[in-house]
Amino acid sequence: MAGQGKIKEELLSELAQLRRQITRLQHAETERRQVKIALRESEDKYESIARAAIEGIYHADGEGRFVFVNDACTRILGYDRDELLGKHYSIIIPEAGIPMATEITRAAAQGDPQKGEFILKHKQGHGVPVHFSMVALGSPGERAGLTGIIQDITERKRAEEALQKARDELEMRVAERTMELELANEELRAEMVEREDAERALRESEEKYRNVVERANDMVAIVQDNLIKFVNQRVVDMAGYAPEEVICTALSQHIAPEERPVVMERYARRVAGEDVPPRYETTLFRKDGTTVDVEINAGVIMYEGRPADLVIVRDITERKKAEKALRESEERFRALIENAFEGIAILNADGIAVYASPAIERIAGIPSEEAVGKRLIELVHPDDRARFQENFTLAMREPGALVTGTYRALYANGRWHVVETTARNLIDDPKIGGLVLNFRDITERREAEEKAKEAEMLKEMCQLRGDLLANVSHELRTPLTTIKGYATALMDDEIRFERDVVKRRLESIVEACDGLSELVGNLLDVSRLEAGMLWLNRVPTDLSKILREAISQARIRALDHRIVLRLPEELPAVNADPKRIRQVVDNIIDNAVKYSGEGTEVTVSVRREGKGVVVSIADQGIGISAQELPKIFDRMYRAKTSLAPKKEGTGLGLTIARGLVEAHGGRIWMESEEWKGSTCSFNLPIDAE
Ligand code: ADP
Repeated sequence: MAGQGKIKEELLSELAQLRRQITRLQHAETERRQVKIALRESEDKYESIARAAIEGIYHADGEGRFVFVNDACTRILGYDRDELLGKHYSIIIPEAGIPMATEITRAAAQGDPQKGEFILKHKQGHGVPVHFSMVALGSPGERAGLTGIIQDITERKRAEEALQKARDELEMRVAERTMELELANEELRAEMVEREDAERALRESEEKYRNVVERANDMVAIVQDNLIKFVNQRVVDMAGYAPEEVICTALSQHIAPEERPVVMERYARRVAGEDVPPRYETTLFRKDGTTVDVEINAGVIMYEGRPADLVIVRDITERKKAEKALRESEERFRALIENAFEGIAILNADGIAVYASPAIERIAGIPSEEAVGKRLIELVHPDDRARFQENFTLAMREPGALVTGTYRALYANGRWHVVETTARNLIDDPKIGGLVLNFRDITERREAEEKAKEAEMLKEMCQLRGDLLANVSHELRTPLTTIKGYATALMDDEIRFERDVVKRRLESIVEACDGLSELVGNLLDVSRLEAGMLWLNRVPTDLSKILREAISQARIRALDHRIVLRLPEELPAVNADPKRIRQVVDNIIDNAVKYSGEGTEVTVSVRREGKGVVVSIADQGIGISAQELPKIFDRMYRAKTSLAPKKEGTGLGLTIARGLVEAHGGRIWMESEEWKGSTCSFNLPIDAE
């Protein structure tokens, strides 16, 4: 029973609960209805707000189809509402924007509100820039509906673009302007630098000129309206004034009175613009009243806006002195030259006289003014012209050259004078620029010299003749005495001579005759040689043979001497007259024997030398002194040492030997040392013809 009561209670409570629940449900229904009404009202309200909104508002369902679009939306996109409702939103998205639109839509559906700018596609096809915001409708999820708000921002964009453009333009203009300004600035800066440079250059130049003017050795002054406006420090030592003492004094008062008119006239004309010589000499007054010679160099300049005279004044006292000294010296030299006994001429490179001193009239018989402009070679004897020209060329060859010569020159009276000249090349000397020819007439001197020479020769000849006569007469007399003595004795009938004695005497007579014959032969040879009438009979000759024969003969003549022959292995034949060469060799060997002591040696040797053969004959005899050595080949010359009584001779042997050797185209010479010995050598050319 209890169970039953409980169940009843439980049932009653459940019932009560159900009633309460029903009541609550009834309430809830009412509430829900009220809410629904309120909701609808609210929805309507929002819908009408949404429809009337200026911004485009749309709803899309979970499939992305439009379920609501307001007027603004259709206006913005150009569609009617019906054309949009139920359509997928991609209708208003341009092809290129679809991926992005899908992404935005997906994010918004997932509950992530989206906002931004986007370009939608107008029904006409063109793009419409919009600002959009998009949220999920209801609870977010894959397939949530969406609501979006779009705002046409075409105008704003346009405005923005216009603004941007305006801004860009502005910026561009600013950039341009900035550039212009920078350029202008740059120019200005350059101009400023230039101006500064110019100013500095000007300053430096001014300083330089001031320095030049102040340090100048010359006095510098500026004269305007005849008044001295400026003067440099040099006025102190040139005129004895301080610069400030002369400023604003008249120029004329400082010039010597006699020169004042000329200087002032020139000054006036120059300032007036006339062409006046800028340089001239004048005399200035010093402060102490003395004068100073000056050279003025003036020119017109602008000074303080008006023309003025710039005057440079140079002290020429020293120059004047030097000029005077030079003039005097020049006059002195001129007087010396013009009155000199010697003639002086200056020849140019063509041999034409550009100056001739008056002495030329005395020497060549033509006045100096006629000589000037003439080729001096024309005055020279035709036979001497080649030599004159040769010497002239030689002298012209190098500056400073000195050439002397002697020529015959035609004197006006038709006689030839002998003129001695000395030419010095002074082509390098700007004052001369030619050949200085000193010349003197040496005709008289020459004549006197010739006469003296002739007299000397005559004397010598007389002497020689005397010597010759003395020698020859002695040489002749000795054999003649022998001949006559023996012959006379043999003729004496009273005396009966032994056969032997007769033979010896007759031999002596023959020997004396041979000596005489040799002497006569020598005399003839000398005269033939001197007359150039000695003929040679030249054939290829073996010298060694001649020498061998000569020596074997000589050994017989000189039994007390050792005569040695030294021959080379080979000796070429010479083209010679064998007889004459033998004569030469005999003569030299005989001399060697004659002028050396008994028991000494005489060496005959031969050697090749160059294109010739040299024969030397050396002895160990008395030798010849150095003073006499050069004379022993002279005709009839005999050295003192050889004049001892036993040494007989005529002094003709070596003269003949020299004549013969030279006739063969050879040379003969003697080397000797007194008391030691002599060596006489001669050479003969191998290829002599
Ligand atoms: P001479 O008949 O006097 O010998 P030469 O003409 O032969 O005449 O010689 C001239 C002079 O030369 C001689 O008188 C002598 O003084 C000197 N003389 C020549 N040969 C020699 C020599 N070998 N030694 C020294 N003196 C010499």
